[in-house]
Order: sequence, then C-alpha cells, then structure tokens
Amino acid sequence: MSFSDLKNHRAIADQLRNSLERGRLAHAYLFTGVRGAGKEDVARTLAQALNCLEKENDACGKCDSCRRIAAGNHPDIHWVKPESKSRRITVDQLREFERAVNLRAANARVKVGIIADAECLNEEASNAFLKTLEEPPAQTIIILLTAEPQRLLPTILSRCLRIGFGPVANSVSPYRAQVLPVLAKFADARGVAGAYQLLTALTGLLQQLKEQTKQTAEAEANLDRYEHLDAKLRDRMEDQLEARIAGEYRSAREQVLEELYSWFADVLLCVEKADPELLEHPEQIDALRLAAANLTPARAGTNLDAIEEIRESLFRNIPETLAFEVALLKVAAI
Ligand SMILES: [Zn+2]
Repeated sequence: MSFSDLKNHRAIADQLRNSLERGRLAHAYLFTGVRGAGKEDVARTLAQALNCLEKENDACGKCDSCRRIAAGNHPDIHWVKPESKSRRITVDQLREFERAVNLRAANARVKVGIIADAECLNEEASNAFLKTLEEPPAQTIIILLTAEPQRLLPTILSRCLRIGFGPVANSVSPYRAQVLPVLAKFADARGVAGAYQLLTALTGLLQQLKEQTKQTAEAEANLDRYEHLDAKLRDRMEDQLEARIAGEYRSAREQVLEELYSWFADVLLCVEKADPELLEHPEQIDALRLAAANLTPARAGTNLDAIEEIRESLFRNIPETLAFEVALLKVAAI
C-alpha cells in the first residue's frame, strides 16, 4: 500500500510524506481515532515507506521489505498489542518491546515500534516506557495507536506528536459548542481581519480553559489540608499538582485543535463537492460552503496543513499564541 492508496486519509498521508521528504518525522507519534479508522494501515504504510527498497519516501507494496512488513514478519518492525484476555499491555510485553527496538536493525533503514490500543498500557508499563519514548534508539520511530487518548498518561501524550483520524471514542468534544460559532464567524469574515478575530476568540477560549482546569484541579487536590506537612513534601505535592494541571490543559487544548482540524477538513471536502454525509459537521454546511467558496482543493489542503502545523509547533514548544497566529495568518492569506 502506498501513501496514495490511503484515500480515506489523504491529509494525513500527505502530511507524513511531506515530513518524510523533508527529513522531519517526529520520533514518536500518537495516532488517535475510533477502531477501524485506519490507524494501523497508516502506521504500516509509514513503516513500509521508511524501508521500501524500490521507492523513495513511499511504499511500493511489492518489494521484499514492503511484503514482509505487510505480512507482519519483518524483523525490525515491532508490534505490541494487549493480551487478549486481560486487555492489558503488561510490563513484560513492554520490556520485550524495548529490548527489540534497542537491538541493531537486522536490515531496516529505520526501525518502527508500534503499540496498538495504547490506552491498555497501565501506569506501571507507561512509566517503564517513558525514557524510550523520550529518547528512542537511533533510527527508530515509535507509533502509538489509540481510540481513547484521554486514558493515556499526560507524560505519554506530551512526548508524542498527535495525529487525529477523525473522532475518538465516546466523545463529542465538550468544546465543540464553543469552537464552532467562532469558526462560522470566520467563514463569514475571512481575510486577515477574520483571522485575527478567530485568533482572539480562540486564545480567549484557551485562557478560559486554562483557568478552569487550574481551579478544578486545585479544588480536588485541596493542598491546604497538608499545611502542617514539612515544606519539602509540600513543594513536591505542589509540583505534582502543577504537572497534572499542565497535562489536563494540554488535553483540553488538543480537543480544541481537533475541532479546528475537523472543521477545516470539512471545508476541504466541500471544496471537492463531496457528499455532505461525509462531513463531520453536517449541521455547519452553510458556514462550510461559505468558507469553501473560491478555494481550490490545493489551497484548502494548505489550510489544513497550516492547522496541523499548530500541533507541530506546540510540540516543539513554540509559544501557544504565536503558533496559532502564524497558522491562522497562513489560512487568511488567500
Ligand atoms: Zn517496497
């Protein structure tokens, strides 16, 4: 399967091929989306493209390497899946996986380690795995697949570049109701002024989320109870609370980004005059069509890339407002 065969995931395939061509793949990815969304296909295609003997930056599907990866018996492509009975990925499985990815490649250019159903990693297994995730062995890419990113530890989430395959399990994001109206306004205004309105609305929303997350976590932790404890211990608890707040805020922000991305993906579908049934936000059809007016498919694709770049920038620790501003101005530059 080559990238162009991944028809249901054109934007994702383009993004990965692009990063591959520029030599800018992340060392760890998190693919999120419901079961059956095609996460495994994309992970497999990426592994093939990294190691294809015939094509550069793509998979031919026919060479020895591509075929072995498709058959699941390539010595350098390692899969972990939960054990069937317990639905758990155990520490032992993870240790074996780590050992495997740390071996010298048998014949791959780039080793790939794929963890399917990563929400089944328990806390112990997750912690055992953090260091490998942060600094994978040379020439190794780790891909986590999950339908329930909210069940992963924030420390895992923050170490992966996230790619969304449409909606995740049991979630209409709680932020949808706040994000969609500002996007509808943007569809109406467009241009640089529209982009700055959108930027102001989104940064306002994020600020609000930040404060809410902080208040809720602080109330739950109720550190005042521990006033009598020694200062060192209290400091540690405060640090932990801060890390928790940061993690929860990041996952809230991620859901806002997911809404943005799926809306711009809908705009692309409208530009291509796709069946409205394929839209994630069919109820927004008027605004989407308005935003799609006068866009070429290439331009709508570039817009989608710009939104995806927000994630990439945040992942590279570029300040949040700047990451949004740069991307939205690209979208506005029609
Ligand atoms: Zn090949």
